[in-house]
Amino acid sequence: MKSITKFHNEIIKIVGPDFILTNPNDILPYLHEERGLKKSNADIVVRPESSEELAKLVKLCSNNKIPIVPVGGLTGLVGATVASGGIIVTTDRMNKILNIDQLNKTMTVEAGCILADIQKEAIKHDCLFPLSLGAEGSCRIGGNLATNAGGVGVLRYGNTRDLVLGLEVIMPNGDIWDGLKALRKDNTGYDLKNLLIGSEGTLGIITKAVLKLFPSPKTTVTVFIALNELTKVLELFEGVLKRFGQNVSAFELISRIGLDMELKHLNGMHDPFQQVYPYYTLIELTTSFEDADLRVAFESLLERFLENQTIMDAVFAENERQHSSLWRIREELPAAQSREGGSIKHDISVPVSKTVDFITEASKRVKELLPGIRPCPFGHIGDGNIHYNLTQPRDISKNEFMSYSSDLNRVVHDLVTEMDGSISAEHGIGLIKKSELNHYASPVKMKIMRSIKAALDPDNIMNPGKIV
Ligand SMILES: Cc1cc2nc3c(=O)[nH]c(=O)nc-3n(C[C@H](O)[C@H](O)[C@H](O)COP(=O)(O)OP(=O)(O)OC[C@H]3O[C@@H](n4cnc5c(N)ncnc54)[C@H](O)[C@@H]3O)c2cc1C
Repeated sequence: MKSITKFHNEIIKIVGPDFILTNPNDILPYLHEERGLKKSNADIVVRPESSEELAKLVKLCSNNKIPIVPVGGLTGLVGATVASGGIIVTTDRMNKILNIDQLNKTMTVEAGCILADIQKEAIKHDCLFPLSLGAEGSCRIGGNLATNAGGVGVLRYGNTRDLVLGLEVIMPNGDIWDGLKALRKDNTGYDLKNLLIGSEGTLGIITKAVLKLFPSPKTTVTVFIALNELTKVLELFEGVLKRFGQNVSAFELISRIGLDMELKHLNGMHDPFQQVYPYYTLIELTTSFEDADLRVAFESLLERFLENQTIMDAVFAENERQHSSLWRIREELPAAQSREGGSIKHDISVPVSKTVDFITEASKRVKELLPGIRPCPFGHIGDGNIHYNLTQPRDISKNEFMSYSSDLNRVVHDLVTEMDGSISAEHGIGLIKKSELNHYASPVKMKIMRSIKAALDPDNIMNPGKIV
């Protein structure tokens, strides 16, 4: 590993003395790894203000083979921002909204914009930017793009990839690729934009993006539903989708074990029902016009489901406060789980039709391997993405439980593979899932990905060691 202290002065010439951090206390926040599973190490963090500054910095790194790790909000869950020497580049100063085109329904932003700020800006213009996830108050759009983030709106609006028209990217040699088009049709050769989205900072640093906007919802109906068996969830999903189609903007699964952990560990958490049920769904319907009939129609559908016992109970959000507290139940599940002890997480997807079979069979197999283990499945069941998280048995230590990680991953991911699913639905690969990707991806896919990486980044300076 090259010493990079000798490049300090050159970096200062590019960004100015205030925007190169070398004091260990200043650097510490950038070494944060959300899961706490990996250790990050770097001596310099650089905070460029513009694409031009960043391009010069990358050129300097390229000429001197200095590794660079781009970071956004550092909320990623696969260790993809973990540095092992070199410099960390943060986009936190590149946080301007550059343009809104009302007619084209697009917003052009710098990569360091916080996702929640983009959502708020869209609302100011009576529009919606539908990417929404638990970390939206701190993740940055560059990070969302680099991970092709999913979240709760995928069922209706797609992943981040589906929400972007154009990108500007600093390539590993310092070239600026200007693909900042606001076009819905552009068939001019290889799709570089979609190659760079989801590349987790390994092929370049995203500096700007043109995002798609949508009509803002004028009517929102949010309901929390109790189920007495998991199998009913797909019956409910089919019925709701058949009746409301494109109006279904979220369909989330919550398990009782997760709600119990929240009631135990989190302040101000309430069970919406008097009785205990094993599973719940949180459903949201929206329309882009005032539609008093939406709630009425939903109630009448749920009444039929109550009569035939597909569902056991339902609570509608009557105001903004109730809406937030129902969503809080869904969003705080990972936090409650972490407080319950060791947690081994799987971010998997299978076809929606196989989600229930997946949860049932996976739970059987992990319990055979480790009796007492507590599966806590939840997540975006409406798009087939289950966060199949496993909480430690009560009678063993966290360390002992974590020593089962590889074996449990094998059991869960083997089943995912049997069901033609994905071992990483929305969080990416980073460092934490790299060995799993190597195990499950076809040699042909790995060869193609390695060839692309070698072609674009022959010196392997751009977020080295991640994905491939
Ligand atoms: C409470 C919580 C809830 C979450 N819920 C979801 C969810 O529902 N769906 C979901 O998909 N994820 C979720 N996540 C994971 C995480 O928020 C996403 O992966 C998010 O997209 C990461 O954005 P970030 O800005 O924090 O990126 P970081 O963590 O900073 O970086 C992630 C990756 O992107 C790269 N990167 C960052 N910026 C750039 C850039 N400008 N150019 C190139 N590469 C870059 C990094 O090198 C790294 O590889 C959640 C996380 C938390 C903590």
